[in-house]
Amino acid sequence: MTSPPTRLGVPVHAATIQLAGISRRFGSTTALDSVDLTIPAGSLTAIVGPSGCGKSTLLRLLAGLDRPDGGSLTADGDDLSAHPLGTRDVAMVFQDYALFPHMTVDRNISFGLRLARRRDRRNGPDSRCISAEVQRMAELFGLEELLGRRPDQLSGGQKQRVALARAVIRRPSLLLLDEPLSALDVALRASARAEILRLHRDLGTTLVLVTHDQQEALSMATDLVVMNQGRIAQAGPPDKVYRRPATRFVAGFVGSPAMNLAPTAAGGIIGWRPQDAQLIEGDRAVAGDGQVVDGVVDVCEFTGSGQDVVCRGTTGETFTLVQREGDRWLCPGHTVRAFVPAPAVHRFAPDGSRIDG
Ligand code: ATP
Repeated sequence: MTSPPTRLGVPVHAATIQLAGISRRFGSTTALDSVDLTIPAGSLTAIVGPSGCGKSTLLRLLAGLDRPDGGSLTADGDDLSAHPLGTRDVAMVFQDYALFPHMTVDRNISFGLRLARRRDRRNGPDSRCISAEVQRMAELFGLEELLGRRPDQLSGGQKQRVALARAVIRRPSLLLLDEPLSALDVALRASARAEILRLHRDLGTTLVLVTHDQQEALSMATDLVVMNQGRIAQAGPPDKVYRRPATRFVAGFVGSPAMNLAPTAAGGIIGWRPQDAQLIEGDRAVAGDGQVVDGVVDVCEFTGSGQDVVCRGTTGETFTLVQREGDRWLCPGHTVRAFVPAPAVHRFAPDGSRIDG
């Protein structure tokens, strides 16, 4: 897919990436276990999952920094393993940005193009073209005043922008970001998030983002991939994954506060999101089909517009029974009841798979 000309001034080719039966083992550890996945052209695909589930291994394979033990990896049908590192149309931004400490911002950004010129003096970019491109990146990422500085003279947010500019200058058809926001403080994260969204829109490239923060993934991604133990637990549009988690694992992992999961007498599991539960005031009867759940209030957490009612269960565990609006506080120690309307109750079989209907 080739997008129309963008703010960068050139059409960018966006690749569809296909993984089929991809495996990667490290000794006795299976980091990726026969992964099948399509990353659509032009998507912003976010990969989430618990620590050690294989996110970085997957990203490294896409970047060409590592090779799979089995399976095939293609970009627009073209076998990626045929393109050694450095010749793939892929750029990666690392968690720590990995800027060259002894180079100025200008030289960090132009590094890829200077390398291309050194490799191919005849067809590579000339120095006039390189400085024009650096200027364009500096404007795009607001780095005009910083081109002469070294990385140790930059803030975290500025380093991130330099790392992005260094990756984007090559107009990659696949851009990989490994935890790009984790080194930033809360205020900077919000603006950096918006910047990445804008960049994706302007660049039109396929962007894959690995993050620990599933809220970040939900808010940014066009496509969400949830991994668990080296496998894809679920992949799809974020709202679909949130509304109809395919397994108990995905249900518990995606969403904040986490979905409540409770065993049923038949050995299955029911789940409900605190946002979907309504507190039952006094002895009022509930109308309609649904599930009534009890809890003993442990603490109420102020959320700004309301509160999370955190309860203690029978075995001492805490869970957010209900998220409610308003400022009437509930006293710790009181037993409370909540109603979850039937359409908001999720059901899972004993093996963790979703039961619909
Ligand atoms: P995190 O969120 O903590 O960064 P992750 O989901 O990115 O984790 P990976 O780094 O991909 O997980 O690791 C997946 C599994 O493979 C882990 O069990 C890890 O210990 C193992 N692993 C990854 N790289 C290597 C390596 N070079 N040698 C041995 N084991 C490795």
